[in-house]
Amino acid sequence: MAKIMEGKRLAEEIKSNVKQKVEMLGGMGIEVGLALMLVGDNLSSKQYLSATLKACKSTDITPYEYRFPESVSMNELLNTVHAINNDERIHGLLVFFPLPRRINSRKIVNSILPEKDVDGLGSIPIGKFAAEESTLQLYSKQYDPAVTQHLGFLPCTPFGVIRLLEYYNVEIKGKHAVVIGKSLAVGKPLSLMLLTKEATVTVCHRETKNLADITRQADILCAAAGRPNLITGDMVKDGVVVVDIGINVLENSHVVGDIDFDSVSKKASLITPVPGGVGPVTIAMLLENTVKSAKARI
Ligand code: NAD
Repeated sequence: MAKIMEGKRLAEEIKSNVKQKVEMLGGMGIEVGLALMLVGDNLSSKQYLSATLKACKSTDITPYEYRFPESVSMNELLNTVHAINNDERIHGLLVFFPLPRRINSRKIVNSILPEKDVDGLGSIPIGKFAAEESTLQLYSKQYDPAVTQHLGFLPCTPFGVIRLLEYYNVEIKGKHAVVIGKSLAVGKPLSLMLLTKEATVTVCHRETKNLADITRQADILCAAAGRPNLITGDMVKDGVVVVDIGINVLENSHVVGDIDFDSVSKKASLITPVPGGVGPVTIAMLLENTVKSAKARI
C-alpha cells in the first residue's frame, strides 16, 4: 500500500515561511499584495479563488479581487491588467482560466509585467525557463530577489509538483518520468522541469497510442489530463511514484483526480490524494512567488 504524499503538510510549511517574509516586509513598511482576476462563474475557478483568498488571509497577504461578468470586453480586461501593472501595492497577478472563448487569453497573460507574473505563464518567463535561464530557481529554495527579478517566475503547479517530490525525497535524476498532458500551464512546463532535473521524460496526450504501455514504464507518473480515473492499477508498475494533478468535479459534486486511487495506491510506493495533494501546494507556490516579487522591489 502506498504512502500518501500530503501536499497539505508541505503547503503549510511553505505558507508559514511566506508569513514570516510578509511580516519581515511589513516591518519595512511594505504590505504584500496579490491581485486575483476572475471572469464569469466557472465553478472550479471560483473554488480556486476562495482557496487562494483563504491562503492570503493565513499569510497576511492583501488580496485585491477583480471580478468581471462573462460579457466583459477584452479592452476592459487589458486596461485592468495595465492598472495592476502600475499599482505599487500589488506585487503579483493571477488570472483564473478559462477566460471566455472570445477573449485572447495569451494577450491578457502577456500584458502582465513579467515581474508581476507570479503564475509564470507569460511568454517571457516560459521562454526564459525553456532557454535554461531561470532553472536555478528549481535548485534554490532561497528567496533570491536578484535571480527572480531578472529571470521571471516558474509556473506554480509544476513547480509545486517538483517541490512535493523533493519533500518526499523522490530521486528524479535518471528516472523515467511519464507526464500525461501537454498544456502550457501544467504538462509542458512540468516535462521541462523533470528534464531539467535529468529524468528521462515521456509526454503523453490525447493522441497518444497505447497509453498503458507507456505508463507501465514510469518510475514517476504525473497525470494532468482532467479525465477522472484515467489511470487504473493495471496501467502502472509496482513501486511507481504517482502525482495526480487532475481536479475533476463529478456530477455528485465529489472531486476526484485522474488516477483511480483505490487500484493504483495498491501498487504505488508514493501517491498524492485528490483533494489535498498538488492543489494546496500550487497555492502555496503562488504566495511564495508573490513574496519574492515584493522582496525584489525593496
Ligand atoms: P488542459 O485541458 O489544458 O490539458 C489537458 C491535457 O491532457 C491535454 O494536453 C490533452 O491532450 C491531455 N489529455 C486529455 N485527455 C487525455 C487522455 N484521455 N489521455 C491522455 N492525455 C489526455 O488541462 P490543464 O489545464 O493542463 O489541467 C489538467 C488537469 O489538471 C485538470 O483536471 C485541471 O483541473 C487540473 N489542474 C490542477 C491544478 C492543481 O493545482 N492541482 C492546477 C492546474 C490544473
